[in-house]
Amino acid sequence: MNELTSLSLAQARDGLAKKDFSAVELADAHLLAIEQARALNAFVLETPERALAMAKASDARIHAGKAGPLEGIPLAIKDMFCTEGVRTSACSKILENFVPTYDSTVTSQLWRAGAVLLGKTNNDEFAMGSSNETSHFGPVTSPWRRKGSNVAITPGGSSGGSAAAVAAHLCLGATGTDTGGSIRQPAAFTGTVGIKPTYGRVSRWGVVAFASSLDQAGPFARTVRDSAILLRSMAGHDAKDTTCIDSPVPDYEKAVGRSVKGLRIGIPKEYRLDGMPAEIEKIWEQGRAWLKAAGAELVEVSLPHTKYALPAYYIVAPAEASSNLARYDGVRYGLRVPGRDITDMYERTRAEGFGAEVRRRIMIGTYVLSAGYYDAYYLRAQQVRTLIKRDFEACFKAGVHAMLTPATPSAAFGVGEKGQADPVEMYLNDVFTVTVNMAGLPGIAVPAGLDGQGLPLGLQLIGRPFDEETLFSAAHVIEQAAGHFKAAKWW
Ligand code: GLN
Repeated sequence: MNELTSLSLAQARDGLAKKDFSAVELADAHLLAIEQARALNAFVLETPERALAMAKASDARIHAGKAGPLEGIPLAIKDMFCTEGVRTSACSKILENFVPTYDSTVTSQLWRAGAVLLGKTNNDEFAMGSSNETSHFGPVTSPWRRKGSNVAITPGGSSGGSAAAVAAHLCLGATGTDTGGSIRQPAAFTGTVGIKPTYGRVSRWGVVAFASSLDQAGPFARTVRDSAILLRSMAGHDAKDTTCIDSPVPDYEKAVGRSVKGLRIGIPKEYRLDGMPAEIEKIWEQGRAWLKAAGAELVEVSLPHTKYALPAYYIVAPAEASSNLARYDGVRYGLRVPGRDITDMYERTRAEGFGAEVRRRIMIGTYVLSAGYYDAYYLRAQQVRTLIKRDFEACFKAGVHAMLTPATPSAAFGVGEKGQADPVEMYLNDVFTVTVNMAGLPGIAVPAGLDGQGLPLGLQLIGRPFDEETLFSAAHVIEQAAGHFKAAKWW
């Protein structure tokens, strides 16, 4: 790590404005760090030439007094976001050679704000997974290791490359997508901050679709302030996504440092799972104590339908995925494997183009949507989803401002250690995060400590709809108390 890659995004922004260093120098420092960190497999595509050209343009704007809010800030973009002229594969073989002719709304807003593209980061294929192991480009290795061990640890998933890149100081921030926990779980596993905004806060246009009623994009950063800065530029109304809300984007950074005195923080009792590691319980208790010491009031609350969230999610998400992924048919774009006739071509293309986990989701999805099973599975799952949402609404109505839960049921596990024999073992990772997607609420994961093996643990704060500001304020209290966590460099 060199001096410029040790800065926070806010520090880099201020240093650029004061002309302490140039955007080209900042980009160069990160490009070098990326080159030296290829062992992590965090990037599936590096874009050094584009980065330097963008940085040069940033320097010109800084000199002309026309800097945007993210001017010259080097970022990594999850490979689920379309980037004009830059391959976007969703880390699937079926899109291995897909180069979009347009940018997603999120990325175009980031470039408009002055940010610099360093490259595209690795993720689980079509964002289906919790460990980055389903990627066509191979797993990501976390910069974190267990004490005294050199076993490769997963950064979590599906946004594993973004989380690892931020944690390893390869960029100042990164984008992620979160359908069931894919921002918050990898953030928790890598000691970084990750927020999934309220459904509708950030445009989904140009983001490769997984489950459209659950997908939401958000940032990864090393500090709460940095994530607030990034979200402001990512969020906003977009007529191209009809589920995107038309309301002004607050200056989230202003919420960082705001007092939490008098806030009522709910502690949902259903998140205390049988067999949960004592260290997770301990960190949760610690988080409660920190918020209490800062003046928040803690109240035990009940979200009685929590236990149905995971099974319902694994009906709704595959159902929507099976429909969204129908477009990859070898006709319009992506891979085409020739066949005897058109049906044979479809079948060969999809059989060869999709990996095992994606095929499994498509099969589950088509099954639960099929005539005869639709009412028993899909319809019921949607009804359960409404009940989950109502649980939260009742608590908020009773005066709860936000809730505090663990972000994950365990610390990060080793690559290849989980879900080999039974995929459900992997799905269980999402117990604390999927509820938030099912209810469409905002959730933030913030680092809170290290476990006995030296791996990061995160806490999750869940907020009222469109009240990301309270999450930033409360997460900042935890950050102040817990401090920052950095992986020892071995790569
Ligand atoms: N791990 C969950 C899944 O595999 C969530 C993934 C995500 O949020 N994209 O579906």
